[in-house]
Amino acid sequence: MIEAPKTLFISELVPEALAKVERRMRAGTNRRAKGYDPSEEGFLGDDERLADVIERDEATLASLGVTPEAIADWLDALIGLAAQRERLLGDEVDGATGLVLGRFRVETDVYMGSQDCPFFYVETPRTGGGRYISSCGSGSTEHRIRDETTGASLFLTGLHPHLIRAHHFFEGATSYRLEPARAVEVLGLGEAAGEAPPLVSETVWELGSSSSEWTGALATHERNQRLRSEGIPREPLPGLIVWTSDDEGWMAAPIPVAIEEPLEVDGARLDPGVVFSGGAQLRRRTIERYADPMPPSVEQVREARRRAAASRAERGTP
Ligand SMILES: [Zn+2]
Repeated sequence: MIEAPKTLFISELVPEALAKVERRMRAGTNRRAKGYDPSEEGFLGDDERLADVIERDEATLASLGVTPEAIADWLDALIGLAAQRERLLGDEVDGATGLVLGRFRVETDVYMGSQDCPFFYVETPRTGGGRYISSCGSGSTEHRIRDETTGASLFLTGLHPHLIRAHHFFEGATSYRLEPARAVEVLGLGEAAGEAPPLVSETVWELGSSSSEWTGALATHERNQRLRSEGIPREPLPGLIVWTSDDEGWMAAPIPVAIEEPLEVDGARLDPGVVFSGGAQLRRRTIERYADPMPPSVEQVREARRRAAASRAERGTP
């Protein structure tokens, strides 16, 4: 594998390399650089020079007092916060509970294939056939971010935050171009805007394999027996018993228990959002996630869970 650069600006490219990047960006497979297959439409209009597009957008943003990096940070944070909210509230999330920062609704479509960044793209043969692809970024999603208070929205691909942060590129004259001034307006950025919600490290208990029979699973698994004899039992909620030992644990509930608030168990966080019964393995993990300045309330989590369960019962799925 070849190490891809984290950032690559056109000022760092020799003319031959810049010409190659532009070839990858043009629409039409016959005009693209060999091997590279980004999208039918490409990233750059037929008559555009990449350097002109980037310089023009950088100048626009400088006049608005906003950096490309700040836009990328906000786009990543809004998409990330929406995904966290969906994991917490379930797939029935809509209405006010689905709004990030109380304003933004983020819709995401996921595609089968992924689109590689055209700035750095290298194919190397793999022993035994096939090839490795090294690129500086890739994406397989499309997003619509809509401010429900104004009705204004932005459409972008999952590759956009990378293109903007690592290359100051918003795309040229294609239907996928994200207009920088429009992004500033819709996101409400400007000189007075604060920083995007940051990524923070958190230690959590991740659920592993589970069993509906909590006593049976405890009796048959050697590891769970050991946990039960050596681990320290805790009862963070009435009826929910957790044994922990170092980086693993076992969680058991003989009758269903709704976890509606984050629980602190042995120095790690157990996320809310599940109605749990039976037994489940736990693994201690340190993950990064966005700090949500306006997290959903316990009542909102409870209500979203209730609606999701009612909808599943209606469809006849467990
Ligand atoms: Zn890139």
